[in-house]
Amino acid sequence: MREQLAGLPAVHVLADAAAAAATAGVPRWAVVEAARRAIADRRAALLRGAATDGAIDAAEVARAAQALAGPPLQRVINATGVVLHTNLGRAPLADAARAAIDDVARGYSNLEYDLARGERGSRHDHLRDVLCELTGAEDAIATNNNAAATVLGLAALAAGREVVVSRGELIEIGGSFRLPEILALSGGRLVEVGTTNKTHARDYEQAIGPATGLLLKVHRSNFAVIGFTAEVSVAELVAIGRARGVATMVDLGSGAFVDRATQRAWGLPDEPTVAETVAAGADLVTFSGDKLLGGPQAGIAVGTKVAVAAARKHPLMRALRPDKLAIAGLAATLALYRRGAHAEVPVPRMLGATAAQLRATADDLARRIGEDPSRKKPSPLAIAVEPCASAVGGGAMPEARLASWAVTLRGVDGLGPDDVAQALRAAPVPIIARIEDDRVWLDVRTLAPDELDTVAAAVRALAARV
Ligand SMILES: *Cc1c(COP(=O)(O)O)cnc(C)c1O
Repeated sequence: MREQLAGLPAVHVLADAAAAAATAGVPRWAVVEAARRAIADRRAALLRGAATDGAIDAAEVARAAQALAGPPLQRVINATGVVLHTNLGRAPLADAARAAIDDVARGYSNLEYDLARGERGSRHDHLRDVLCELTGAEDAIATNNNAAATVLGLAALAAGREVVVSRGELIEIGGSFRLPEILALSGGRLVEVGTTNKTHARDYEQAIGPATGLLLKVHRSNFAVIGFTAEVSVAELVAIGRARGVATMVDLGSGAFVDRATQRAWGLPDEPTVAETVAAGADLVTFSGDKLLGGPQAGIAVGTKVAVAAARKHPLMRALRPDKLAIAGLAATLALYRRGAHAEVPVPRMLGATAAQLRATADDLARRIGEDPSRKKPSPLAIAVEPCASAVGGGAMPEARLASWAVTLRGVDGLGPDDVAQALRAAPVPIIARIEDDRVWLDVRTLAPDELDTVAAAVRALAARV
C-alpha cells in the first residue's frame, strides 16, 4: 500500500493528462480541481484497503472537469411522466412567459414605477387586475412561493389568536413544510378539531370562542382520506365563520384554473378551482404559481380587500415578495389563461394530452430511435412501445393516474436498467427516466416535441455502445 500511495501522480501531472483528454475550452481550474479530487479519492481508497487497479483514468478526470466547469443548475429532459416533478423544477414555462422573463431580465423595468404618473409604483400592481379577473377576487398579491403566501396570510390574519383546523388537514408537504409548525411560526395558536377521517360543522362551531382569529382549510394535496369520511366545505365553513365574525382562509395548494369539466375530460379527479373557492366566500385563498397553474415559482393570495390589504401591509411581505422575473413570468402565464389559451401553457397541455396522442408520440420516438441506417438488426436494447401511467406530481392529486405511453428499453448482459438509466443521465442534456419491471421507461407525456430528437440521439448513442 505504501508503494501505491507513493506512486500516486502529482496533481499537475494528472491535470496535464486530463487537459489533453478534455474537450477544448475546459478551464485550468476545473482540470486541476478534478485531478485533486481524483487523487484524494484514490488515496482514501488505498488507506481503506480497497482494491484499486491501474492508474487513475485521465479521461474520467477530464469528464469530471467538464462537469465542474459547466453550470451547476442545468436543463434536463423529464422522461418520468411526472408532470410537476418537484426535483426537476416543477413547471416548464410557456414560450410567452420565457420571453417576458428574458425581456425584463435584460434591462430595467417598471417593477416599482408608475409609468403614467412618473412616480414610485408597487410591484403588486402588475398582477392584481388579471388575478382578480380570473378568480373573481377583490384583490390579490404574489409572494415567493405558496409556503410564503400561507405564512403571510396566517401572520396577517391570525397572529396571537387561535386558528381552527381539522385534524384531517394537518399536513406535511415535504421540505419541512408542516402545517402546525408553519402556524406556530406565524404566531397563531393551533386549535385542532374533528378526527383524522371525519370533521363536522359542529366541531368548528364548538371550537369558536373569543380568542378565535381564523378558520383554516388546507388542501390535503399529497394524501387522500377514503372510506368513512366527512369534511366541511368551504361554503359551510364561511357560513359558520360569518355567523361568529371569524374570517376563513383556504390553502388550496395547487390552485386549479381550468374548470372541473375540463379536468374531468383530462381524467383528473375533481380539483377545486381558485374561482369557485373565492365564490364560496373565503376571505383569503393561497396557492402556488408553479403547480397546476404552470407558471414560475411563486405563491398567490387572493381574497377580500381587507384580508389582502392586511397581508400586503404586514412586515413579512418585504421578506416574502416575488422578484421581477417571477412577476414577469407569472403575468405572461396568466395572460394566456385570460385569453383562453391555456393550451399554450406546458403543464395544462401535458395534463390534457390524450392516450391516443401520446401513443402516436411514443411511436414517433421509437421510429426516431430506430432511424440509424447503419443498424440492420433490431436494437440490442429491445426497444418497445408500451402503455403506462403518468402522475400529476408536485404533491397534487396523489391518486390520479393518467393513461400514457412510453418507449421502454431493456438492458443487456453487463448493461442493466440501472446502467441504461445512468447512461441517459450522463447524456449532453441529461435524460431522467423511470425504472420499473426491469426496464427503463421513457414516458412521452413530459417530453416536449423538440426534445424527441435529443432523446432519440441519446438512446441511439447508447445502443451503438452495446
Ligand atoms: C404545495 C403546497 C404548499 C407549498 O407550496 P410551494 O409553492 O411549494 O411553497 C402549501 N400548501 C399546500 C396545501 C400545498 O399543496
